[in-house]
Amino acid sequence: MVGRRLVLVGAGHAHLHLLRQASRLRTAGVDVTLIAPPRFQYSGLASGVLSGALQPEAAEIDIAALAAAFGVRHLPQPVIGIDRAARLVTVASGETKPYDRLSLNIGSVASDPYGLISQKDVWPIKPLAALLALRARLETLWARDRQTVRVVVAGGGHSALEIAASLCGLAERNGVRPDVTVIAPEPGASLPPSARTRLLAALTARGVIFQTGVVVGRSKGGCHMSDGTVCPCDFLVLAAGLAAPSLIADLNLPVDGDGRLRVRPTMQSVDDPAIFAVGDCAVIDGHERPATGVFGVRAAPIMLSNLAALGDGRPARLYRPQRKWLSIMDLGDDRGLALRGQFWSLGGPALRLKRYLDLGFVRRMRAPAPSNGE
Ligand SMILES: Cc1cc2nc3c(=O)[nH]c(=O)nc-3n(C[C@H](O)[C@H](O)[C@H](O)COP(=O)(O)OP(=O)(O)OC[C@H]3O[C@@H](n4cnc5c(N)ncnc54)[C@H](O)[C@@H]3O)c2cc1C
Repeated sequence: MVGRRLVLVGAGHAHLHLLRQASRLRTAGVDVTLIAPPRFQYSGLASGVLSGALQPEAAEIDIAALAAAFGVRHLPQPVIGIDRAARLVTVASGETKPYDRLSLNIGSVASDPYGLISQKDVWPIKPLAALLALRARLETLWARDRQTVRVVVAGGGHSALEIAASLCGLAERNGVRPDVTVIAPEPGASLPPSARTRLLAALTARGVIFQTGVVVGRSKGGCHMSDGTVCPCDFLVLAAGLAAPSLIADLNLPVDGDGRLRVRPTMQSVDDPAIFAVGDCAVIDGHERPATGVFGVRAAPIMLSNLAALGDGRPARLYRPQRKWLSIMDLGDDRGLALRGQFWSLGGPALRLKRYLDLGFVRRMRAPAPSNGE
């Protein structure tokens, strides 16, 4: 019989759902432990916090309180090692925890192919706490002498453009002229062409400069491009893609080009059925999707069913992610850009819908357990 010790690593979108449904796992005879840092920053509201429209607390979920409310044992530590042969995880304090099944929902990190993160005044787009620190630093500098801070955003995808818009919003709220340059081979290439034109025009009108290129190096007061030119820069935000945390590579299991664990539609590793993974750190064979929170949210009920099946022996369910999904960028000035397939809409209603959905998610996840169980 399959052992029933389930260890959840990371409190990402899917695991938040599992925590709230822990009684279902317990009823199925599964013993659950969560290992994750005690606080979680919700990415859907990160740009709203960076732009100064929201306070940091608006985006935060107290994981320790949530685990306690739903009766789940919680180790408030990052996992630093996984020994698949011995079925043991090691946390930062050195403590180890045995498992029969391990589920990973540990998100992603900023891609850094040129080793820029360790350099001075480089701010990776993840973890989201780094963006909060960036806001605090800019506000301190501006409060001191209203000096202009030249910020370069390396990357031209969805998140990079949203960060550039948020930085404009933060400068505008602080009464400072934004000085933001976006450097990418083709900014906004993943957007529908008409949406791209509209968004780039809206950002240009607020002072954003777009430059074609790839940032490969950093020195005091500048960042270096692959063609040898140097762009003046005080702060560099690294937003040129996301990759799986190194813990995934350490498993020695099949991964994709971004280091994400390859899983089956049951959310189990293609090579080790004891390892489940979901969200940004995983990719379902044949159903590759970009890194966005919605897939973890939608996969969660399937994960719950499959992990409960450890105890009650029912067959595994399959998760097939949808082909189209709604995403809404926060433009930092009370407008949003909503996208679904080729359809898009830019304006106030898009941002209001985003706030409704994102604040609603955080509120639901924070809600205490009902007194009569779940
Ligand atoms: C600026 C920005 C804005 C974004 N906006 C949106 C948006 O509006 N909507 C959207 O859907 N997506 C958005 N995304 C994408 C989104 O961040 C990710 O797709 C989403 O957070 C992935 O969710 P997840 O469930 O995989 O993990 P996450 O939500 O990232 O959670 C991972 C959890 O694992 C924990 N963890 C990490 N390592 C360890 C470890 N070693 N041990 C234990 N715990 C660990 C972390 O502390 C965290 O609690 C945005 C991304 C960025 C960078």
